[in-house]
Amino acid sequence: MEINLPKGTHDVILDEARAYDRIETVFKAAADLYGFNEMRTPVIEHTELFVRSVGDSSDIVRKEMYTFKDKGDRSITLRPELTAGIMRSIVNNKLYATQDLPLKAYYVGPAFRYERPQLGRYRQFNQFGVEAVGVTSPYSDAEVIMLGFNALKMLGFEDITLKINTLGDEASRNNYRVALKEYFAHHLEGMCEDCKVRYEVNPLRILDCKVPEDQKIVEGAPKMSNYLSPEAKDRFDAILALLDAFSVPYEIDENLVRGLDYYSHVVFEYHYTTKKGVNVGAMGAGGHYDNLISDLGGPALSGVGFACGIERVYALLKDDELLVDTKETTDFYVMPMGEEALQDGFMVGAALRAAGYRTEVCLENKNFKTMFKRAERKGSRFAIIIGDDEIKTETVTMKNMATQEQFKVAYGDLIAKADELFDLEDEEHHHHHEE
Ligand code: AMP
Repeated sequence: MEINLPKGTHDVILDEARAYDRIETVFKAAADLYGFNEMRTPVIEHTELFVRSVGDSSDIVRKEMYTFKDKGDRSITLRPELTAGIMRSIVNNKLYATQDLPLKAYYVGPAFRYERPQLGRYRQFNQFGVEAVGVTSPYSDAEVIMLGFNALKMLGFEDITLKINTLGDEASRNNYRVALKEYFAHHLEGMCEDCKVRYEVNPLRILDCKVPEDQKIVEGAPKMSNYLSPEAKDRFDAILALLDAFSVPYEIDENLVRGLDYYSHVVFEYHYTTKKGVNVGAMGAGGHYDNLISDLGGPALSGVGFACGIERVYALLKDDELLVDTKETTDFYVMPMGEEALQDGFMVGAALRAAGYRTEVCLENKNFKTMFKRAERKGSRFAIIIGDDEIKTETVTMKNMATQEQFKVAYGDLIAKADELFDLEDEEHHHHHEE
């Protein structure tokens, strides 16, 4: 009997795997432009890490974590996001003391949340993200917001919507919470069960409620902007001014509060709607944090970061036909006609690979038509045919798959010919670029 995937998981295979690889490569290149270095942390962490950072009022910690006891009776959790592990590593390794600040790290890898699977929502998904830790300047916030925006542009997205808001400092938030509690106290009766819990643990979360009736009530709620301290307002305005100066378009969304407890000051999300009208929710999201490092036992350093969901980015690029270079390609496909020819074909293949050419040799005894089809499916630039005549004369017949042009090459001249062919092609490409 076949065994199926666990609910909410998916295989990444074939063209999709190539697309994922390219998406990650572009994200890494963007992060590299800004001086970020990679960090790789474990998929499993102590449960306590997420309780302390993501926070016990968040949906993630309250109901979405994959938590289990290991054989040593320790509570272990599959990471629901990657920021917490990065912060733990910075503290454990005292990177703040040995490296220049800001610490700039990027990461990519799987995260796990026990959510209801739906469009763009999986139980195992992949995130790419960055964190800049240790500078308080609003320039750092602006830099990270622009990095995410530019990375998404490099991937091919135009018309990205950047939603942005500020949660202010702790004093601003405390005042605002009091005002929200006062307001929602009169409406709580008719609101969803989740909101009743949110009211008790963190009333800011109610602003994020997706239930339509509750949203109407949220519309009448007090606005954060009226509760900001002058410093918090200045900080937000400074970031917006930088975005204006670099023509990064944004929409202020006062109900944007994010689902993780560690944020303060600026929070943001990147959205995109495809030409067919598909919107999978935020492609990426992030914000500024003040207490994350100190809550994990490190010094009082603030930071800023975002995470993008690779699955969502892929789905949107695909829907708008913005995926490039996902078809398989190879340089040479070697077609030996018969058992004896395979011996020579195997040698030819080895020699081409040793010279750096991507080469596949057909190892089965197939007829010409079948092998030619395979060469096409492989995206081969040239086919190399070896039959009885070729063995006798120690030459191969080479066929340009695009032009169908055929020519003979002596065994001894193969690599020189390959170099010539690919130099020529590169030059042609070059001319196209220059035109
Ligand atoms: P968050 O860590 O919740 O701020 O999410 C950051 C980004 O990760 C989101 O904008 C999504 O692109 C992606 N993401 C979060 N949860 C999921 C999920 N369950 N499935 C797929 N992508 C997700």
